[in-house]
Amino acid sequence: MNDIRKPMSEEYAQYLRDESQKTGTASLIAFPKTTEETAALLALCNQERLPVTVQGARTGIAAGCVPAGGLILNLSRMNRVLGCRRLESGSFAFRVQAGVILSEFAGAVESKRFSISGWDEDSVDACRMLMKGGDFFFSPDPTERSATLGGMAACNASGARSYKYGSVRPYIVALRAVLADGRPLSLRRGACFAQGRRLNVSLDDGGCIEATLPSYRMPDTKNTSGYYASPDMDAIDLLIGSDGTLAVITELEVTLLPQPGCIWGMLAFLPGREEALDYVLRLRAMDEGALASIEYFDAGALEILRRQRTGNAVFASLPEFSESAGAAVYTELHCEEAKEALALLGRAGEALEAAGGREEETLVARTRSDLLALQFFRHAIPESVNLLIAQRKKECAVITKLSTDMAVPDRHLAHMMEYYHDALDREGLQSAVWGHIGDNHLHINILPRNAAEYDKGRALYTLWAKEVCRLSGAVSAEHAVGKLKVDYLEIMYGKAHIDEMRALKKAFDPLCLLGRGNIFAGRGAM
Ligand SMILES: Cc1cc2nc3c(=O)[nH]c(=O)nc-3n(C[C@H](O)[C@H](O)[C@H](O)COP(=O)(O)OP(=O)(O)OC[C@H]3O[C@@H](n4cnc5c(N)ncnc54)[C@H](O)[C@@H]3O)c2cc1C
Repeated sequence: MNDIRKPMSEEYAQYLRDESQKTGTASLIAFPKTTEETAALLALCNQERLPVTVQGARTGIAAGCVPAGGLILNLSRMNRVLGCRRLESGSFAFRVQAGVILSEFAGAVESKRFSISGWDEDSVDACRMLMKGGDFFFSPDPTERSATLGGMAACNASGARSYKYGSVRPYIVALRAVLADGRPLSLRRGACFAQGRRLNVSLDDGGCIEATLPSYRMPDTKNTSGYYASPDMDAIDLLIGSDGTLAVITELEVTLLPQPGCIWGMLAFLPGREEALDYVLRLRAMDEGALASIEYFDAGALEILRRQRTGNAVFASLPEFSESAGAAVYTELHCEEAKEALALLGRAGEALEAAGGREEETLVARTRSDLLALQFFRHAIPESVNLLIAQRKKECAVITKLSTDMAVPDRHLAHMMEYYHDALDREGLQSAVWGHIGDNHLHINILPRNAAEYDKGRALYTLWAKEVCRLSGAVSAEHAVGKLKVDYLEIMYGKAHIDEMRALKKAFDPLCLLGRGNIFAGRGAM
């Protein structure tokens, strides 16, 4: 096979960074199109002892795909949907290459239009059944829909709808992957389990990996902090969330859910965060499973949106909202019928009034276009903050995104919100807070204006990580650890458990070539 690696040049400069704005270094880059090409590249790099960093769409915000020397293995050209099958449940599973983009896949599922060239007959038949039958959807939605399915698997991504549907993990039923030395493996959910903490994984060439799982207990919250490890676990769950450090995922099989008959959105504005928290707790108490998301935006986030609406043409279509709004909460209702959604909307309206919000200022989306407008509002906040950080980085090179991604158990939400805001006020830092409050998972975005504020922000991040860990929470709930949260992972699990993770990494990647700098400091697990 030809060596498809190309020397790095200015043409590929964008591949040195992701949405965190951290920039790395690399000597070579390659864009394989198949598992076989990926395997050949990895075998070659292994011979040369060259580090390899896997990339999907580079939408990550923990710098996981930012290279630390060596080869950039960019999977964006592995973007074919390979086949489909009908499940016993009546739903469908799709086999895709890892570089398939979420928005393209979700769009194809919605419109039931697939390029079936190269599919086997069973897949074509299953696709015909899908076209004739009801509607289905792929529920994982990490806001940034240009992410790849492989990247989402590597981060165990979730997002707003995870309140109802969880992260991407349970929707992945099979994986094909390639080890750092080029040997492929195939994992199917339900087919390979650890015995206690001992895990034996068979490889496609008849070989086997023997590893011991770390002994920590994972938090009882949303979590993608370090390796997924639990006694008797399914082996597939170890690769999901492994942040590009154990193997390169080249193909996935993902499942769909039946599309709810009626999806409505509701964006409520409240005077401030105390009222918003009260409203959220009322929403959670009344929910019987029809709320897909409960999302929060604080005064800082709303202020950024107000400025974007008037100052940036891209955001001109954002809905207007009252100057007096000091917080907002977005909920998405997934019901079977409009009657059910209407009743739920009424109860949410009562909860809003009881919490001090004004029902007449609420924006309700009952049509698809209105729903997209409210989802755009939701997406516009991280997008705007990323733009702002990129701009500030031009003035002060050390600045990277300082956005927390921590979740705590239900009972600690109110305490953590106060804890965050007290510290921000005390230090006089600009911030925007938003995120998945339904899951007690907020993104505290510190917006430093200079290096001194950046350092203060980093110190606060450490302080918060300690508090979150004291409360049995997770330092990374959905973005994975990447390179930016390595220190917080050690706060969460301690050195002894990090060493257990190192040993596990070495069983899969003895030369520590894959994803250097992710999860572990420096040269990985060396
Ligand atoms: C505006 C914005 C909003 C966001 N909101 C959310 C959100 O709500 N929820 C959420 O979960 N995330 C969110 N993200 C983060 C991001 O979209 C996700 O982390 C996404 O899952 C990363 O996918 P990617 O293809 O871009 O991966 P990349 O950024 O390219 O890579 C991410 C990590 O996965 C590894 N990786 C990538 N592909 C593979 C593969 N095939 N095999 C092995 N390892 C691989 C990389 O090495 C790296 O460690 C947001 C990002 C942005 C910019």
